[in-house]
Amino acid sequence: MNTSAVPIKIFCACGQKYAFEVHPHNGAMPVPVACPVCKRDGTHEANRIIAKILNGKTQPLPPPSVNALLNSVQSSLAPHLVDALKDAVVQELAAQRRELLAAQQAASAELTTLVHRLESVQTPLFERLRAYETRIADLEKDLADQSKENRELLKLKIELLKEQVQTECAASRLNFN
Ligand SMILES: [Zn+2]
Repeated sequence: MNTSAVPIKIFCACGQKYAFEVHPHNGAMPVPVACPVCKRDGTHEANRIIAKILNGKTQPLPPPSVNALLNSVQSSLAPHLVDALKDAVVQELAAQRRELLAAQQAASAELTTLVHRLESVQTPLFERLRAYETRIADLEKDLADQSKENRELLKLKIELLKEQVQTECAASRLNFN
């Protein structure tokens, strides 16, 4: 019935990947296939992929968003489980927002402490700027090897420091003029 070509990607047990398009015959491979490297039979796996695609249970690319993920499980889960999953996702997002807010507060508190420390000893502008640049360099080094969650916080701290540098430079130009 379905005669349009179906894309098949097989990841063989030997590690070889091979892909091709096929017009299924009665919902299955019209001819046997085998791995081009180890010759292991791939017909069974190809038939499994064809069946999934013809049943509309898979998409060529994994759905990127939470909503797409929810929609994809919706058909295979009982409604009360889908609701529970949605609640869990909403709670997770709320928790992430709280963490981000706390991270923003921590970042600005850290900057305030640094600024106050430099002001309290009346550090000259160029030394203050050097302190900021050193801190920025440290943070950028951290940014290279931190996990995603920390990366957002590190980027935020770097942004705040750069703003502070600009503010102080602007203020000093005003003073000198
Ligand atoms: Zn193989």
